Amino acid sequence: MKIYKFGGASIKEPKLLDNIINIINPKEKNLWIVVSAIGKTTNSLENLLNSYINNQNDKFSILESIINFHKNYIKESFKNNSKNTLTLIQVLFNSLEKLISQKPEKDYDILYDEIVSYGELMSSIIFSEYLKIKGLNNTLIDAREIIITNSNHRDAKLIWPEAQKRINKLNKNSDKIFITQGFIGANQDNISTSLGREGSDYTASALAYLLNAESVTIWKDVPGIMNADPNCFDFAEKLDELSYYEAIELAFYGAKVIHPKTIKPLENKNIPLYVKSFINPQNEGTIIKNLNYKLDLIPVFILKQNQILISISPKDFSFIVEENMSKIFGLFAKYKTKLNISQNSALSFSASIDDNNRNFEKLIEELQEEFFVKYNSGLELITIRYYTEESINKMTKNRKILIEQRSRKTARFLVKMR
Ligand code: ASP
Ligand code: MG
Repeated sequence: MKIYKFGGASIKEPKLLDNIINIINPKEKNLWIVVSAIGKTTNSLENLLNSYINNQNDKFSILESIINFHKNYIKESFKNNSKNTLTLIQVLFNSLEKLISQKPEKDYDILYDEIVSYGELMSSIIFSEYLKIKGLNNTLIDAREIIITNSNHRDAKLIWPEAQKRINKLNKNSDKIFITQGFIGANQDNISTSLGREGSDYTASALAYLLNAESVTIWKDVPGIMNADPNCFDFAEKLDELSYYEAIELAFYGAKVIHPKTIKPLENKNIPLYVKSFINPQNEGTIIKNLNYKLDLIPVFILKQNQILISISPKDFSFIVEENMSKIFGLFAKYKTKLNISQNSALSFSASIDDNNRNFEKLIEELQEEFFVKYNSGLELITIRYYTEESINKMTKNRKILIEQRSRKTARFLVKMR
């Protein structure tokens, strides 16, 4: 049994659906397919949510553009066969419209998951119906019936034994292709949850674990995992293989290749992960698996843009010691703010965070009760695994270094463009 995952980019235009049909071997019966929302739909749904919560009057026009986008997508790909799929998807449009017509009374994070999950609900219907008209019979499974999570909305954790029970109860007729949504799940009260942005990879690996799959393939618009983001650097090269450990490290430092949580479930059951191009499916891609030899890689560059450096020092002249640190970390955790790089001296603690945090002001305010706080935005965090002096010079040239850290394999720089 295999698992395939198709991300938003792989289905962003109707004509790409035929690539996918070509990838799926019609004889391949025992296959699970995980799909993300089409293109940038999740971003549009986030805009819809914000407009709805802030009671802006553009909420219905945002909804309309999401609806039209999907309707046009269906008409273009299904042509004369559109009717059935349009009827199926209309049910979702109606319930989304009803939802945003009510007063937003629930907690932001709960509403977020409820609204954003429509992206995958819509794409999975389209995907499943398209396969059907192309003769690939399949069963669509609502991920919210199997991916059972805790109630930590927007970053929910699987409740593995419960998910396993649900999977075991399914009638998994091995003759079939199963399709389900990535990224979304539900808590034990059937309330929608999500696994964090870009979380569909994680769904694929969780399913692989739960179903004891033989492999997972993530189909992407790049040839595999690269040593740098090909959109930012022209020297980007494909890496042929990685160990689970190395893949976790790269994802942790912010490589956008795979969702950081993806690897662990696969490692636990020794399931290989392939990252391949849906444009050139015959090419090798990257394989991530257990390696019993040491990897000696070329330098791998990971760039995180839009960083804010926060510098914190106690008002009462106390040192930055355990007690202050636990207060500071407690506040970062409270506001769900991830620290990308941090450093402390006797009198101050500094850390960079992503500049997209809607809790930023609240965090700063609460820190300011006991600390002097300064911050500096517009920074970049560069990580180089397997660094060489040459690779460091290449990346830090013309940049002012604000924080620098080196370990045996990894060099990291928080920098400002000059
Ligand atoms: N659609 C979700 C997102 O864009 C999940 C995913 O693509 O993996 O974040
Ligand atoms: Mg996506």
